[in-house]
Amino acid sequence: MTMLVPILGDQLSASAAALTATDRRDAVVLMVEVADEATYVRHHPKKIAFIFSAMRHFADELRAAGWTVDYVCLDDPANTQNFDGEIVRAATRNAATGIVTVEAGEWRVLAMQQRWGTLTGLSCSILADDRFIDTRADFADWAQGRKRFVMEDYYRLLRRRTGLLMDGTNPAGGMWNFDSENRKAPKKGLAYPAPPHFTPDVITKAVLALVAARFGHHFGDLLPFGHAVTRAQALACLDDFIAHRLSQFGDYQDAMVAGQDHMFHSQLSPLINAGLLLPLEVCRAAEAAYRAGDVPINAAEGFIRQILGWREYVRGMHWICGPDYAARNHLGATRDLPAFYWTGDTDMRCLSQAIGATRRHAHAHHIQRLMVIGNFAMLIGVDPHQVHEWFLAVYDDAYEWVETPNVIGMSQFADGGVMATKPYAAGGAYINRMSDYCSGCRYKVKDRTGPDACPFNSLYWDFLARHRDLLGKNHRLLRMYDGWDRFAPAEQTAIRAQAAGFLARLPGKADGY
Ligand SMILES: Cc1cc2nc3c(=O)[nH]c(=O)nc-3n(C[C@H](O)[C@H](O)[C@H](O)COP(=O)(O)OP(=O)(O)OC[C@H]3O[C@@H](n4cnc5c(N)ncnc54)[C@H](O)[C@@H]3O)c2cc1C
Ligand code: SF4
Repeated sequence: MTMLVPILGDQLSASAAALTATDRRDAVVLMVEVADEATYVRHHPKKIAFIFSAMRHFADELRAAGWTVDYVCLDDPANTQNFDGEIVRAATRNAATGIVTVEAGEWRVLAMQQRWGTLTGLSCSILADDRFIDTRADFADWAQGRKRFVMEDYYRLLRRRTGLLMDGTNPAGGMWNFDSENRKAPKKGLAYPAPPHFTPDVITKAVLALVAARFGHHFGDLLPFGHAVTRAQALACLDDFIAHRLSQFGDYQDAMVAGQDHMFHSQLSPLINAGLLLPLEVCRAAEAAYRAGDVPINAAEGFIRQILGWREYVRGMHWICGPDYAARNHLGATRDLPAFYWTGDTDMRCLSQAIGATRRHAHAHHIQRLMVIGNFAMLIGVDPHQVHEWFLAVYDDAYEWVETPNVIGMSQFADGGVMATKPYAAGGAYINRMSDYCSGCRYKVKDRTGPDACPFNSLYWDFLARHRDLLGKNHRLLRMYDGWDRFAPAEQTAIRAQAAGFLARLPGKADGY
């Protein structure tokens, strides 16, 4: 009897359900690098290199632990370059008698898994992915019958269930949520400790050469490459974050500073999403630092809420919203994504900083993604599917289960308010308050009209005016519409003309995208 155990590139955990459910003496673990997955959107070269290198290291760790691993490299001449073809080949090659796999985090790949049994003529068990803190079924129970899916309610339920940051039945520090303390603007003189950088070993160097040759033309810098690619390195990243950055994480969570691509963020999302770290162990490490008196409660709670709250919530929403979620377009947006999303070549400093970080690291922090890159795309009315494909391609932590709710729901309001109670739309004033970008920008952040006016301002008002039919009754936007109505008609006309002029000058789609 030989069980074939396919392990996907984001299932790199020794505790993955298919591994714990199988006897290693009767199993062959299958890991495959396929071009279809690297190119169905053109992933950032650093993201591809990170995943392939982490896969190769994980395969070695499994072998060392006594597993038989059948590993198919991208440049294997017989590689069919897609999952279905490789499953069929591997089933024959290993004379498999059955398949055990963990459900993928994407509807698209789950549909493939569901046909592997038929394709091979073997029984195929698809096990639940139990590396999350909650289960899909428990989330669905929580969501059942609710009119609104409020993240904060769900987060408190998980706090109680896990005991994280709980003193008996009460929240540690006396409050559930310290967000009001976590919106500090950046101040001068802060020191930003750099996250760890790992010198590529021989495995990573081989992957880098392969990725440069095959995917070097994709958007993004492959080098320098310093990602953690093993469980041990991932744990070192966790320790480093807890020791050096967590204490300031809360205060400056929403801040942006020119030239500071990481600030006090953890950079742990690619590692957690690929399975090198488990979300609960990350939360427990942050809680332990708080209990030891090393970090304040607003930092520990703010950080734990991102994982226990937001991460679990978006995962649950992804599954209950169904496979068509990525096609939603509530605001009817049709514009092409401007070419500078693929180059960073724009005179708007906020966008060039955020896209530049993305190009360099395959990473940008949350407020850059939400309030700069996503906000701008929504204000100018980009087709949300193009925005979705861009976010999926360029970030090292992007998989559909986490990317689509964040992009289609939170950032583009394309689901009509399932995820967010109002669109995350903002003019230049917000970016100016939370960053130092505007002081060095060629545009004047306080101006709404005129040749030097910050484009975000007229675009913001134009967005609200344009979508009044759909958004005008949203109670969270009433104050904004009041503001618009207080402008004199001539001012309203001038603002909308300014926006129209800007939109007419915007570059179109990048060649090849
Ligand atoms: C438009 C948009 C797209 C995004 N796309 C992704 C994506 O593809 N993959 C992804 O992992 N995150 C995504 N996020 C969420 C968030 O921006 C990233 O998780 C975060 O920037 C990762 O960097 P970090 O590890 O330094 O995070 P930190 O700021 O240190 O936060 C700690 C952890 O909390 C979790 N987290 C925080 N916010 C979220 C969230 N909204 N959803 C899920 N997990 C969260 C992550 O695991 C992260 O590592 C997106 C957010 C927006 C607004
Ligand atoms: S002035 Fe406007 S375009 Fe320039 S950085 Fe500020 S918000 Fe961005």
